[in-house]
Amino acid sequence: MNQRVGEAIVLRVWPFHEADLLVSLFTREQGRVKGVARHAMRSRRRFGGALEPMTYVRASYAEKPKQELVRLDAFEILSSPLSRPVDYARTAALQFLAEVVEEALPEGAPEDAVFRLVLAVLDEMQVGKVWMPVTYFALWMSRLMGWMPELGHCVVCGLDLRGGTVWYSATSDGVTCGDDRRSGSVALSAESVATAQRIFRGTVKGLAEEDWPKTRGADLRRFAVETLERHLERRLVSARALARI
Ligand SMILES: [Zn+2]
Repeated sequence: MNQRVGEAIVLRVWPFHEADLLVSLFTREQGRVKGVARHAMRSRRRFGGALEPMTYVRASYAEKPKQELVRLDAFEILSSPLSRPVDYARTAALQFLAEVVEEALPEGAPEDAVFRLVLAVLDEMQVGKVWMPVTYFALWMSRLMGWMPELGHCVVCGLDLRGGTVWYSATSDGVTCGDDRRSGSVALSAESVATAQRIFRGTVKGLAEEDWPKTRGADLRRFAVETLERHLERRLVSARALARI
């Protein structure tokens, strides 16, 4: 038995056997792990309100030899998303973070840069202010996973596209100029390409001071989500929920 204590973010929780819960956790030191919280439905003392998705906790757990699931012993809340107001958009945005991390990261692979990204984005994801953090997270997550195409040049003819509109397709890599756009391509405006560059240079905290209604960078958000979905090879349920708002 190997006892561990460390920072973690709760991603998903499923009912498991009688009063137990199965929990997917993104730990700082070991990446994504799955564990069983025994009697969690009854034991408020050990887990309290810490099982809400995207709760940042200090988790105590034990690894058992030759077993895939760890034994979750207790969570201490470091920061809960429920400590601030919640509405439908913020709930969907929090689910988006959880779903992308759950789908993108393999189990047992530490990703400190992703961990820091999630914490920084969580801090800014507040009621009435979800669109920038969602866009920021989707773009940065693609970049950290190595999925973000280079936006400055046409992947077909090499044309310098800086300062102009670029075209991307849901089925192929890279972006193109208008002449080389593939069937079904979608345009990403020059303004949104510039916003993406600012997102890659700036902090989510700094950008959160600006006004970001849903319409701002909507094409950029769609591009970022579709880039994730193409590499994950599946639709993100939470992204659909956000798009319906
Ligand atoms: Zn071209």
